[in-house]
Amino acid sequence: MKKTTTPLSELGEFGLIERIAAQFQPQRSETVLGIGDDAAIVEAAGNELLISTDMLVEGIHFDLTYTPLQHLGYKAAVVNFSDIAAMGGEVHQLLVSMALSNRFGLEAVDALYEGMAKACDRYGVDLIGGDTTSSKTGLVLCPTVMGRSASGGAIRRSGARPRQLIVVTGDLGGAYIGLQVLEREKIAYTGNEGAQPDLSPYAYAVGRLLKPEARFDVIEWLREQGIVPTAMIDLSDGLSSDLIHLCRSSRVGCRIYEERLPIAEEVYAGCEEFRLNATTVALNGGEDYELLFTVDVAHYDVLKQSALVTLIGETTEWEEGMHLIANTQEVIPLKAQGWNPLLDAESVNTEDE
Ligand code: ADP
Ligand code: MG
Repeated sequence: MKKTTTPLSELGEFGLIERIAAQFQPQRSETVLGIGDDAAIVEAAGNELLISTDMLVEGIHFDLTYTPLQHLGYKAAVVNFSDIAAMGGEVHQLLVSMALSNRFGLEAVDALYEGMAKACDRYGVDLIGGDTTSSKTGLVLCPTVMGRSASGGAIRRSGARPRQLIVVTGDLGGAYIGLQVLEREKIAYTGNEGAQPDLSPYAYAVGRLLKPEARFDVIEWLREQGIVPTAMIDLSDGLSSDLIHLCRSSRVGCRIYEERLPIAEEVYAGCEEFRLNATTVALNGGEDYELLFTVDVAHYDVLKQSALVTLIGETTEWEEGMHLIANTQEVIPLKAQGWNPLLDAESVNTEDE
């Protein structure tokens, strides 16, 4: 008998998550928010706890030929912290589960945890547990992070309303260019043992990929300014995908402007060298871990003057859709072209039973 197997690429990562979410509607009163945001919200003794987990798999999320283990440990912790920043919260504890193959010795684990300790130190987080097991194929890291909402509550993806400002922190596309540089040097290096790649022209971009930071500095600044975002998400998949998540969650449309996208000089230089379009890289490059949020127009002046953030557009009615206004004034629909791991998954249509 033939049994049909539906390839997961048919649903995509988010279709799959929606399907799972539909089967697990929260039942308990203390589950304030379940699947669907950067972190879940759980009520405990009058506080909102924030919990989130983000897994990193060797060969999918990182390549150890050019990723120092210390950096990997640091990044594994920080990308988890970033989901708590995306709720406007405080980050408190970390648990780390990992699977290791016999390729890894004590020195490797030490380096990994040195990086994690550095991140915990810097962000004031306690590592309180985890799990260790073996793996046949490589390294898997699965941190879980816990924190607490700021007074006033967590900032969800769903709070944006039409005619609000769309704001992004830092600059875009750096991590993607960093990845292109390292992938190129890896090829060069493989064909020429002993050659030392010169990464100095791209130090910023490579740093964006290997050593991201969670933008709690911006969360603090917003608090000082008395600015409360109406909705927020961190940029893990790319501006286009993550803005679409935010807009869908809030049921608003959006208009962002090509001329306003913050792009570093080095990213422009990288785009030229790799023959890439800088706007495409800014829209679709993932792993920048900047924050994307919406705010009331009343905050325009303060935000406009800050070097921490860039105003890239505004929300609209849901029916108007989600668009990029190009420098040519052309109106281009936004697409979720962010990285989708399930598109690469091996698809099997039928199998014998
Ligand atoms: P982020 O990029 O902010 O980490 P994700 O896109 O990974 O968010 O996840 C979106 C939402 O889906 C989150 O609420 C997350 O907890 C949930 N989620 C992801 N994978 C699963 C899964 N396998 N089972 C249940 N929930 C999941
Ligand atoms: Mg996130």
